[in-house]
Amino acid sequence: MKIHEYQAKELLQAAGAAIPEGIVVDSPAAAVEAFDQLGGNPVVLKCQIHAGGRGKGYFKGYQEKPKPGEKTKLGGVKYLTNRDEVAQVAEIMLKYPLVTLQTTEEGQKVSKLLVQAAADIEREIYVGMVLDRAAGMPVLMACAEGGVDIEEVAAHSPEKILKNFVAPETGLHPFQARKVAFQLGFTGDQVAKAEKILMALSHVFLDKDCSLAEINPLVVTKQGDVLALDAKMDFDENALFRHPDIQAMRDLSEENPIEIRASKANLNFIQLDGNIGCLVNGAGLAMGTMDIIKYHGGEPANFLDVGGGVTPEGASEAFRILMGDPKVKAILVNIFGGIAKCDLIAEALVKAGKEVGFKVPVVVRLQGTNVDKGRQILKESGLNVLTADGLTEAAQKVVAAAKGQ
Ligand code: GDP
Ligand code: MG
Repeated sequence: MKIHEYQAKELLQAAGAAIPEGIVVDSPAAAVEAFDQLGGNPVVLKCQIHAGGRGKGYFKGYQEKPKPGEKTKLGGVKYLTNRDEVAQVAEIMLKYPLVTLQTTEEGQKVSKLLVQAAADIEREIYVGMVLDRAAGMPVLMACAEGGVDIEEVAAHSPEKILKNFVAPETGLHPFQARKVAFQLGFTGDQVAKAEKILMALSHVFLDKDCSLAEINPLVVTKQGDVLALDAKMDFDENALFRHPDIQAMRDLSEENPIEIRASKANLNFIQLDGNIGCLVNGAGLAMGTMDIIKYHGGEPANFLDVGGGVTPEGASEAFRILMGDPKVKAILVNIFGGIAKCDLIAEALVKAGKEVGFKVPVVVRLQGTNVDKGRQILKESGLNVLTADGLTEAAQKVVAAAKGQ
């Protein structure tokens, strides 16, 4: 689960990191008021969406998509010096969807802006923590060349990214934080300031079960302050139950509506780019089904694991979700009846088919408990389903169906 920049910075601040002063608003009038409250000094208006790369983004409908290498006229982060500009820019930001490298082509509607006291930047640094799955522990990454081009640094000069493993039981040790601060070129009293932010980052990452916590940029100002200017966080959803404070930060308007609907029905659903809808029980089988679809030249439209203990309601909701997606051109139902019996799935299929109709070809492969009963139900339903005995046959049939063959 992701949160907004302003929320991530609140968590960092509570853990001891210095952040710039800022006010969250949802209208141009409130943005001007915030500008005044911050003393009428230069501010940065920052669109709050769950995607990075805002500075290099553009507003769809307000301006043309910038050509590669071309600078965007107005991005999702804008330095402004007077009231009129704040009012005008806030209006545009709240009106047009913001497209960045991390959003879809349609962009993301902006409903909140952070009005932040602008910093006089001397240099920009990157620091972030993620779980290193190969090492089996969190890793602190740091790079003296932070800012909006960090992806290019990572791609072309990966040796510039310093990595330090962090023991999950103890967190980042002060000596490690100091070492990283020195490596990043901090000197004098700035070392302690940088250390404090690094320690805060590690605390939040471990205490709140983050899968990602990132400060980019961490800046040194011309006045010598060290501040977390931007922050991004992602949380492990399996651990959310022990963090009501983080759950309260959830902003459903930022999330994919289909995925929200699926999660309400206890379905593990992730939308993908292809056109073959998959309805499968068990995460491993779902992965295998996606692999075999790709192997036969198709592209899955989703990952969907209806779970072992699926109910008829859950299965029909899954079907309605797949049928409701205009991108889906064919559906593969691949069920291994273990805990969820084949007849139950067949009944749910028939129910959903009668309710919403099969607008696209449906290929069904059933195996396991009560398979004969399941097949019988499908046959007697009169519904137009293609059946398959094996996985290969099922995949070939659904790939052909999606291609209209
Ligand atoms: P992102 O593009 O979504 O990562 O948004 P950031 O908050 O990281 O801002 C992008 C870039 O805008 C930063 O790397 C800075 O170069 C610039 N920027 C952001 N805030 C300020 C500020 O307070 N002062 C100045 N001078 N530049 C800023
Ligand atoms: Mg940033």
